[in-house]
Amino acid sequence: MQSEEWHRFSRKIRHERPRCEMCVRMRQVGMNNLVNPSQDVHHIKKVRDYPELSFKRSNVMALCKKCHKKLTEQGK
Ligand SMILES: [Zn+2]
Repeated sequence: MQSEEWHRFSRKIRHERPRCEMCVRMRQVGMNNLVNPSQDVHHIKKVRDYPELSFKRSNVMALCKKCHKKLTEQGK
């Protein structure tokens, strides 16, 4: 997913959601104090399985590198 279109979309999402959504969520439940800026855009439903959802706002999360790595390691 490194197309020009994706690049633009990803930048727009990070601009709209400047803080890592996972960090924010963890802070809300008291698991974390630190909220990192968003650095990556993650697909909730995999593009491999749902290519039509690639550019859907409701299918993406703006995440920091750390949270993105964690999710990827869990296979999400
Ligand atoms: Zn994070």
